[in-house]
Amino acid sequence: MSSKKKVAHILIFPFPAQGHMLPLLDLTHYLARSGLTITILVTPKNLPILNPLLSSCPNIQPLVFPFPPHPKLPSHVENVKDLGNHANLPIINSLAKLQDPIIQWSNSHHNPPVAIISDFFLGWTQHLANKLGIPRVGFFSSGAYLTAILDYVCHNIKTVRSQDVTVFHDLPNSPCFKFEHLPTLARIYKESDPEWELVLDGHIVSGLSWGWIVNTFDGLECKYMEHLTKKMGDGRVFGAGPVNLLNGSDPMTRGKSDSGSDSDVLQWLDGKPDGSVLYVCFGSQKFLTKDQMEGLAIGLEESGVHYVWVVKEEQSDSIMSGSGRGFMIKGWAPQVSTLGHGAVGGFLSHCGWNSVLEAIVSGVMILAWPMEADQYVNARLLVDDHGVGVRVCEGPNTVPDSTELAHKIGESMNGDKSEKVKAKEMQRKANEAVKEGGSSLMELSRLVKELSNLETKINVG
Ligand code: UDP
Repeated sequence: MSSKKKVAHILIFPFPAQGHMLPLLDLTHYLARSGLTITILVTPKNLPILNPLLSSCPNIQPLVFPFPPHPKLPSHVENVKDLGNHANLPIINSLAKLQDPIIQWSNSHHNPPVAIISDFFLGWTQHLANKLGIPRVGFFSSGAYLTAILDYVCHNIKTVRSQDVTVFHDLPNSPCFKFEHLPTLARIYKESDPEWELVLDGHIVSGLSWGWIVNTFDGLECKYMEHLTKKMGDGRVFGAGPVNLLNGSDPMTRGKSDSGSDSDVLQWLDGKPDGSVLYVCFGSQKFLTKDQMEGLAIGLEESGVHYVWVVKEEQSDSIMSGSGRGFMIKGWAPQVSTLGHGAVGGFLSHCGWNSVLEAIVSGVMILAWPMEADQYVNARLLVDDHGVGVRVCEGPNTVPDSTELAHKIGESMNGDKSEKVKAKEMQRKANEAVKEGGSSLMELSRLVKELSNLETKINVG
């Protein structure tokens, strides 16, 4: 009797939100190129997001389960972008109902998965992995600093909620954060609500996972990665970012712009001097109020700088027309290629982690306006730890003082700021991390090796 090894089959379970799904698909693409067999679990309305990946990687298969209905979700909603942030809780709870169908699928599979890699919002999959008797690896689409803060918050939720300020004594330099600047969960968690308990339990059992993959790199978050490693154990935390650089220059899973063609904005930028344009975008979820839009519009005009401003389709009517210094994009912008254009020198951003990494990769200084979720922690990392950004505003409901904003923008964009130099230095470190011999590539090849060693053996008679 001979024995033949099967290629390790990995089940990938993304969380259906833009900022979570795209980076996990970048990582999946890399794992597929490394020879692993992959199944990606999605619900029907998210299947189109996989198309580019499925057509270029024959060793990736989709696994489509109907979206389990939830009383708080309209029937068309299967992705956070359809409803905004408050869809997170019901979507996590709906997807948790897929546990039994996944077990049945795995039990009847001729080559069942040997590991599951799932988004950090799906911590309940640790229980699923236990039932399947396979390791689970958590994928953190956010940075290591946030991961460490969130982990502490979840383990100490009562204490954290009873304090105005939390000091994180275990973290390097014992940072302190005001309550309202902590991850959103700390504020909106409801004790004894079964839906919230599932989320909290997920974050806590996630600490028992076989490993954690974090979309970050040594040059940016080395000390926070060391902190996570102390918690998870030597070799159990993999810094794999920036994952959007892993598969060459083609960000295949990033969308096209909604208004005009992508080349319109790039052509407009072609006519502007190097580093002179401010790109303004607050991610995929945040809607500004009318007052915020007006404050920002006046601030941008008064600053005297050229700018590209991405406005949500639904909000575009409330914007007065610019002076010719501004290029408006309504709907979805080609953010990666815009940031990559030499004319862009600054990024007024909410500091969502993907935006942060995309700015770093382009060597662009961030003008930070953190609002919620991981954004205050990310802004702290950029501004205070590394000096690659400046703060210009904060808070989800703050209406910026136009004159003050204009001054900050003008000073940052026109002055000889050290932040600009440091942003270029961080860009170099990010690119090095994903080159042959770079920290993230080495971590990833270790991950692939460990996953491949999990391969099942079948006997061939
Ligand atoms: N994005 C884009 N065009 C837009 C808005 C967002 O391409 O008009 C992309 C952006 O490049 C990033 C992601 O959507 O990859 C937003 O993720 P981030 O973590 O920055 O913020 P979130 O949307 O999760 O708040």
